[in-house]
Amino acid sequence: MGARGGQALANLAHGLRDLLFPPACAACGAPVGQDEFLCPACQGQVEPLAAPACPVCGLPGHSWLCPACQASPPAFDAARSLAAHAGPLAEVVRGFKYQRRYWLGQGLARLLGDAPRSWWATVDLIAPVPLHPRRLVARGFNQALVLARGLPGREGPELAPRLLSRRRYTRPQVGLDPGARRRNVAGAFAVAPNWQDRLEGAWVLLVDDVFTTGATVNECAKALKQAGAERVEVLTLARAAGGKS
Ligand SMILES: [Zn+2]
Ligand SMILES: [Zn+2]
Repeated sequence: MGARGGQALANLAHGLRDLLFPPACAACGAPVGQDEFLCPACQGQVEPLAAPACPVCGLPGHSWLCPACQASPPAFDAARSLAAHAGPLAEVVRGFKYQRRYWLGQGLARLLGDAPRSWWATVDLIAPVPLHPRRLVARGFNQALVLARGLPGREGPELAPRLLSRRRYTRPQVGLDPGARRRNVAGAFAVAPNWQDRLEGAWVLLVDDVFTTGATVNECAKALKQAGAERVEVLTLARAAGGKS
């Protein structure tokens, strides 16, 4: 089939999809235009993070290192998030992760892909925070990998989905206090042996859905640096209020 035939088929498929599943806002269900993810009202409620922010952990309201980063510098070098984990965005992330609304991942990945180029283009490797195989089977997908795929590929950094793995099963971080979060994920991540050579001196971008206390990405960054990574940056879609500890 020629390119035009393929395009006609794709148009037909889109037309059918819109007929069967009219495009709706991912958060509130209001009708939206084709390929629109959120309706204008929900889009307007997505809160950009206030500047300035701690240059290391990204905690808003600090023009220099926040007290927590001064007291105990994290293993990662810089963490950035696109928006506050609140309102419609938090709603959609929850639906995606916990209600098996897998299709929301595409729209969320596109949102992450809107991150400024300077936030990801200087690294060598992009590593999604891994799930334990047990959780991967239960959920059916790794949300961090789905999101990481939204960052433009090809000439950019290489996506390395298997760079990190979980050494052990950990209970969900949700509901744990900061100290318990740190203990829960301590030593939980390992670097794949076949990536060791590539990691020497490499800059790595860790991708996850939500930054809460940073305990998980901090443990990932420790493992990466122990294995030779020179710099580890973090990019998450959302940042939970209450910040770092
Ligand atoms: Zn809406
Ligand atoms: Zn900080």
